Amino acid sequence: MAEIAPIVGQENALSLLSVLLGKGRVPHALLFTGIEGSGKRAAAIRFAMMCNCLSPDAPCGKCRSCRNIASFVHPDVHLIEPSGAFIKIDQIRELGNILAMKPYEAKMRVVIISGAQAMNPEASNALLKMLEEPPDRTILILTARQKSDLLPTILSRCQLIRFMPVLQNIEQDEDMVRQHERLLNELSSLSSKPINALLAFAESLSKDKERIGDDLNIILSWFRDIALCRFSLEKGQICHHLRNPSMKEMIEAQAYNMPKERILKKIDAVYSAMKNIRANSNLRLTIDLLVMRLAG
Ligand SMILES: [Zn+2]
Repeated sequence: MAEIAPIVGQENALSLLSVLLGKGRVPHALLFTGIEGSGKRAAAIRFAMMCNCLSPDAPCGKCRSCRNIASFVHPDVHLIEPSGAFIKIDQIRELGNILAMKPYEAKMRVVIISGAQAMNPEASNALLKMLEEPPDRTILILTARQKSDLLPTILSRCQLIRFMPVLQNIEQDEDMVRQHERLLNELSSLSSKPINALLAFAESLSKDKERIGDDLNIILSWFRDIALCRFSLEKGQICHHLRNPSMKEMIEAQAYNMPKERILKKIDAVYSAMKNIRANSNLRLTIDLLVMRLAG
């Protein structure tokens, strides 16, 4: 079978598969190749959802079918993985027994053989038989690092989709930059804010538990920049190497107005908030206290 196309990222792979699905032209066997972390297995699971979702907005991720697939309890979606170092013949034989029967309920039965390079020769040969006589309403998805990891006879029966390594998630990066800017703007006007605004700021920080570590690092970088600037100022030097160079003027203004001891106390406050959070203290209280100490 011909290679579809080089693919970048799993979203493109999924839109391609969705087009093939819409046209009823999904091949019986697909091979997803790519390095660890390129999203092959996640894409295979999403594709199984796409094939069997009960909502018009497939894959919705919420219907019974999607939920069962996501938690690996769907009776017609099977995941085979290496048991120990290999995928063994018994695993493929057992799969053969399942595929000999009709699907329970699925529009399309999906078998994901994850890490197919781990099939030993007996297992590969047993799988080959299945690929030669593909069962009805069944799609086999193999994932492997590279196509040369598989026997040429297996390869020739699979449609190949290559996953490129995901170097960075641009959207996520842009989000982080925006959040960073928002935070610096809040910090630059902290000492002039009324108490209710300070509490609202603390609340917004403590709401996002996932981000709090990153946010505290940004706050730390802000006060370290002010400290650095203050030291340079006292020595009559020009300040280089700021972590937040886009805010240089604001940092210099704050450094000019804040005695060194006060800046260092604020830096201490950030460190002790970090320590308390690591020790599982009450997040909201810790952040409230921190914001008060940073503003005061
Ligand atoms: Zn669904």
